[in-house]
Formats: sequence, structure tokens, C-alpha cells
Amino acid sequence: MALVNEHFLKLQSNYLFSDIAKKVNAFKVTHPKQPLIRLGIGDVTRPLPPACIQAMHKAVDEMADMDTFHGYGPEQGYEFLIEAIIKHDFAPLGVSLSPSEIFVSDGAKSDTGNIGELLRWDNSMGVTDPVYPVYVDSNIMCGRSGVREPDGTWSNVTYLPCTAENHFIPSVPDHRVDLIYLCYPNNPTGTALTHEQLKVWVDYALKNDTLIVFDAAYEAYIREPDIPHSIYEIRGAKKVAIEIRSFSKTAGFTGVRCGYTVIPKEITAATLGGERIPLNPLWNRHQCTKFNGTSYITQRGAEAVYSPEGQRQVRETIDYYMENARIMRTELQNSGFDVYGGTNAPYLWLKAPEGMSSWKFFDHLLYNMNIVGTPGVGFGPSGEGYLRLTAFGRRDDCIEAMQRIRSHS
Ligand code: PLP
Repeated sequence: MALVNEHFLKLQSNYLFSDIAKKVNAFKVTHPKQPLIRLGIGDVTRPLPPACIQAMHKAVDEMADMDTFHGYGPEQGYEFLIEAIIKHDFAPLGVSLSPSEIFVSDGAKSDTGNIGELLRWDNSMGVTDPVYPVYVDSNIMCGRSGVREPDGTWSNVTYLPCTAENHFIPSVPDHRVDLIYLCYPNNPTGTALTHEQLKVWVDYALKNDTLIVFDAAYEAYIREPDIPHSIYEIRGAKKVAIEIRSFSKTAGFTGVRCGYTVIPKEITAATLGGERIPLNPLWNRHQCTKFNGTSYITQRGAEAVYSPEGQRQVRETIDYYMENARIMRTELQNSGFDVYGGTNAPYLWLKAPEGMSSWKFFDHLLYNMNIVGTPGVGFGPSGEGYLRLTAFGRRDDCIEAMQRIRSHS
């Protein structure tokens, strides 16, 4: 008899997007003629940059010829992409990395979800709250999060509240934790950390021997100076931080699937006996065992993101989303809402009217304005009383949604 991993059973009551889908479907049954505007799920809507399409077409043609066909590639990623990543994403920041410190993958979700496999189940962990649910859920699956408390939190997770009161900037824990997940620019609050603010975290990690998993999936949306694009811009970070990036929100690769993880050679974790073990070769072993590489065609597409045309096209797309964000932010403020984010990230974090819960606010937008958002409480307890809107929609939908909100306020 195979025994189930019972940690999975703890997850069942906790699936945000299926709960939203159920509510939206119920609405559609009772209101079949009402046109809905979906500003909820964080998927992009603009097509791939033409430079990527062209590169992928070329790669498909190569696959059609015996002389240029590519079968299994290196599990860590092709050299051409790794070199482009180092040259364009890190060298301009003054960060030097060697090719063996980069692991190309099929996206940031897999890497953020799997990275915990390198660590014992009984490490303590911390997350900023609210945050991308994968960090906590993947730790629940291996038993690291402990047990669910009556208030829905997990006994072995330190939650670091991010609310309007602290301007969504989390304080470091007042005790030490072994593992911390940080996501900046942040999903869902849309906030970013300055150099000074991120340095506080790196210093905490250095002092407490804490491993930081830094999710920089939204790095390309940073607009303001003094916001670091990589945690390695902070002195000492290579000793304590793993950085995870994605082509999904940068270049519209949500359906193509490509990302990468940086594991500097200096990063180590301890055995119970106190020996320090470098995590880079362990992750290499993990990937070689459980992953057979991102497709050649995809990696050629990702490489094209770094060509001059690719860079221009990516910038245009991000400008489009960020103009949506600007319009939404201005309109929401004009309608009397407290709204955060949308300056260095494609997310707007909207405070529900006084006394209204996240789900009540969700229902209010759905039934009275036919707009789908994401209830903030789905991202963690401190998300209660907020709602996330994304700027990934079409411009006319964003404008129409803002008009509906304005006419109801
Ligand atoms: N990390 C964050 C913070 C995200 O918001 C998302 C997707 O929404 C991901 C990772 C997943 O990215 P990918 O498409 O590369 O798996």
C-alpha cells in the first residue's frame, strides 16, 4: 500500500484562483449578458515580441534539418542564453557571475516551488505577508510550514506583515529564521524596496545565517532610480541569496515557459554536524535528476529578448502595461480609493472601503461593476481588506473598468 504524503491534504481548502473561478462562473450563470472585465489573474495579454517569434521560427527550422537538429540540451541551459543573461542582466549592474551559477528553467514557479528541496524539512521559514502563494504552499507540501492554526496561518511560518501602516515595507523578524522568501517588486502589493531597504535584509541574513530566496520576476517593471534590479547589487548578498527570474512578465513568456535561477558558488547550507555544503552543486544535481532542460526553441526565443530589437520591443510592451497601471492608479485615486503599487510593478493594491473584507469587496466589484479582481486575503492574512488589480489587461478594458468604478463611487 502506498501511503500518501499527507501534507498535501492540508492544502485543499486553500486554492485562491479556483474559488474566484467558481464565483465568476456563478455570476455568469445568473448574469449571462453582463460583460465582465478581468483584472484578476496575473497573466499577460500582449503577444510575444516579434524578435522572439523570429528567433523561434528559425529554431523550428533548425529542428527540421538533421545537421542542425537539437535533441536533449544541457539541463542547466544553453551557453548562448546563459552568456546573454550574464552580459545583459548582471554585468551592467556591476554584478559578475560565472556561467555555472545560472540555471535556465521552465519558469520561476517551478524554481521557487522546488528550491526548498535542497533544505531539510525542519528549517524555520519566513515570508512577507501578503505574498505569492507558491512560497508557503510548496513548504506546506514538504511539512516545513507546520500545522494550520485556527486563523489560517501556519505554525512554523513567520509572517512579516506589509500593510499601509508600514508602507508595505516589512520589518526583519525579531528572531532568527533559516529561510526567507522575498519578492521585489512585489506581487501582490506592487511595492519595491530601495537599495537601503534591501540592504537591511541582506545584513539580517548575513548576521543570522539566513538563506534568502529572492524572486525578481517583476524586475523589468522597475522605473524609479535607487531600486535595485538584483539582490546582488547589495554587498554580501552572494553569500546569502538565491535569485530567481522569469521571462514571463518581461517578454510575455507565460505560455512559452522560461526563467532562470542564480545560485552563487558562495551560498552554503549546514549539515547537522555543522559542515557547510555549497548549494550550487546540489541544485545542479537536482536539475539533472528532475529536469531535462528548457526546449532549444524556447531558449532561442529568450536569447532574442536581449537583441537590440528584442530590448526595444520588450520595453514597448512593458511601457504599455505601465501606462495601464498609471491610468488605473490615477483614476482610482480620483475615485477616492487608497491605492498602492503600480509604479515599479504591474500590480495595484487597493484598500477596500472601510470595514469591507477582501471577499466582500471582490463581490461588490463583481456584482455591481462586473470587474474581476483578486481578494487580497488570498495572498496572506495581512492582505485582508485589500484587493489586487493587474495592469496586464487591454487598454480599453482598463479605461472602461475605471469608468465603472468612478460611476459607482
Ligand atoms: N513569481 C512571482 C512573484 C509571480 O507573480 C509569478 C507569476 O505570476 C511567478 C513567479 C511565476 O512565473 P513563471 O511564469 O516564470 O513561472
